Amino acid sequence: MLDTDFFRRWLTLCAGSVEREAPRLTELDAAIGDADHGANLRRGFAAVTAALDRDAPGSPGAVLLLAGRQLIATVGGASGPLYGTLLRSAGKALGDAPEVTPAELAAALREGVTAVAGLGGARPGDKTMLDALEPAVVALAGAPEAFGRAAAAAAEGALATVPMRARKGRASYLGERSMGHQDPGATSSALLVAALAEAER
Ligand code: ADP
Ligand code: MG
Ligand code: MG
Repeated sequence: MLDTDFFRRWLTLCAGSVEREAPRLTELDAAIGDADHGANLRRGFAAVTAALDRDAPGSPGAVLLLAGRQLIATVGGASGPLYGTLLRSAGKALGDAPEVTPAELAAALREGVTAVAGLGGARPGDKTMLDALEPAVVALAGAPEAFGRAAAAAAEGALATVPMRARKGRASYLGERSMGHQDPGATSSALLVAALAEAER
């Protein structure tokens, strides 16, 4: 079972990873966007950890709702509302259960990813965060306890964005010139799924 502490650990690990990788995320965004993805997420996840300490949410669902709200309120870029929606939709799906199974988490994340696609209108192959998130939730649907496999699927999905032509977000303004660069949002999504695998150790 995954309890509230597990979810706090996951988001705290996300914050640490985003902090460490912010320069790389910004560098990737400099190539095909506006060079703020690292700073955007660093600000957002710092707000998440501060809110977790301040409000001490009492269930897995409440942790995700709080985190999603903070990302929407503080990030500013396209990624804020999208990641906020991911976590808020997943949090809603978990309700107020004090503990959840990996299968319940897998189903909740599927809802979150569907909500991200609904909000942003992107599909896998459009060179966005969905190219890492979608393979991760597919992996979790097949093997809900194998967080490490989901992390590997997300990392592979992020790498696979390199040759893609962006069809959504700022990078789409570059047309063919977006090809040959890894998508910053897919890269940060892979970090978030990797943190999930770290949280269980
Ligand atoms: P902004 O583009 O507003 O500066 P960020 O740099 O923080 O925001 O985030 C950019 C990332 O957001 C992109 O690399 C992409 O993965 C993701 N993104 C942008 N638009 C969409 C969309 N419509 N659907 C899914 N993801 C998107
Ligand atoms: Mg940007
Ligand atoms: Mg921006």
